[in-house]
Amino acid sequence: NAPLPAPAEAPTVLHTVTIDLGARSYPIVIGTGLLDAPSTWAGLPRAASAMVVTNTTVAPLYAARLCAALQPHYPRVLQVVLPDGEDHKDWPTLNLIFDALLGQGCDRKTVLFALGGGVIGDMTGFAAACYMRGVPFVQVPTTLLAQVDSSVGGKTAINHPLGKNMIGAFYQPVRVVCDLATLGTLPEREFNAGLAEVIKYGPIADPGLLDWIEANLARLRARDPAALAHAVRRSCEIKAAVVGQDERESGLRAILNFGHTFGHAIEAGLGYGRWLHGEAVGCGMVMAAHLSHRLGRVSAAYVQRLTRLIEAAGLPTRAPRLADDNAARYLGLMRVDKKAEAGAIRFVVVDELGRADLCPVPDALVAEVIEACCA
Ligand code: NAD
Ligand code: MG
Repeated sequence: NAPLPAPAEAPTVLHTVTIDLGARSYPIVIGTGLLDAPSTWAGLPRAASAMVVTNTTVAPLYAARLCAALQPHYPRVLQVVLPDGEDHKDWPTLNLIFDALLGQGCDRKTVLFALGGGVIGDMTGFAAACYMRGVPFVQVPTTLLAQVDSSVGGKTAINHPLGKNMIGAFYQPVRVVCDLATLGTLPEREFNAGLAEVIKYGPIADPGLLDWIEANLARLRARDPAALAHAVRRSCEIKAAVVGQDERESGLRAILNFGHTFGHAIEAGLGYGRWLHGEAVGCGMVMAAHLSHRLGRVSAAYVQRLTRLIEAAGLPTRAPRLADDNAARYLGLMRVDKKAEAGAIRFVVVDELGRADLCPVPDALVAEVIEACCA
């Protein structure tokens, strides 16, 4: 974890994707060497202070470099370093951000920079929504999952002991900057977990993306910047299109949860943290593909193909057995999932043309899928 020297090459913007939300529209800038370049940070809201929010893992790698690049734009560049981990996505840790802001006399124009993975992004976004009733914030995602998913779309939250992401707000950033070079230090397990969310966008929206991932998986896993740039760009474009039509999840946005109903049951059933979220989603997509097959939407060959891809991405494809009455345990966990409503549990199902929809499924059919997919 030694601090990296700044990349020798000039900053390169490879793609810019726009999130179209009227007055709240913003760009996602994707490239390499962006973190270190003052030009990356030009044109943001002017303020007396910038506050970089990061954690104990990411700070030694990237915080000094980001702060140096922000220096030309803000009279004061401050930072607050939070403890790392989903366990700290909580109220006391959120309060450390407010302590830092108030302690340093930050006013209501202060710009917050979320430097880290999804945990830092969600917490910083929520802090920005609340501090003095709202200050601008910039997402600087440094995990693959954060670059393709959590930094885009404006959902911010912290956890409550009684439920994940239960306290939060819809609050959009003013810019997202994805520096692909930061993914170089990501542990492989975390990287693969992010790949699950990239793969997700194929079945729900774009069969061509699925073909492309199959053909380029080795390049992605080698963290080839050009391959990463394409994967991040297409993921953000698809998420942007969905969020642009349904910012506050009244319907369509739910298709982004392909594989997630099964995945959440795995995470909760094993105890959070045993499998990474993306690992559970990878396996959950296999289960959702089986379900789609049983509903007549995809062929057995499609299920096999998606399963092979998820396996090749280093992700689990056999679901864990959670109890003796295994299917009942899964069904119980899925019914308490906040996306479930009264009656039959609704699942995101897909067809081979990349069309997804939310479909209520009888318990007996879900139970068959669970038994077919468990180890
Ligand atoms: P994370 O933020 O916990 O990051 C994973 C680990 O990688 C952490 O230990 C982190 O410190 C470390 N890390 C980050 N960048 C690194 C780098 N470049 N090099 C080395 N280590 C690095 O986890 P995550 O998977 O990024 O995000 C998960 C969180 O995102 C969850 O809390 C989830 O609820 C949230 N999420 C939010 C949304 C949304 O729409 N807001 C969507 C999906 C997930
Ligand atoms: Mg997810």
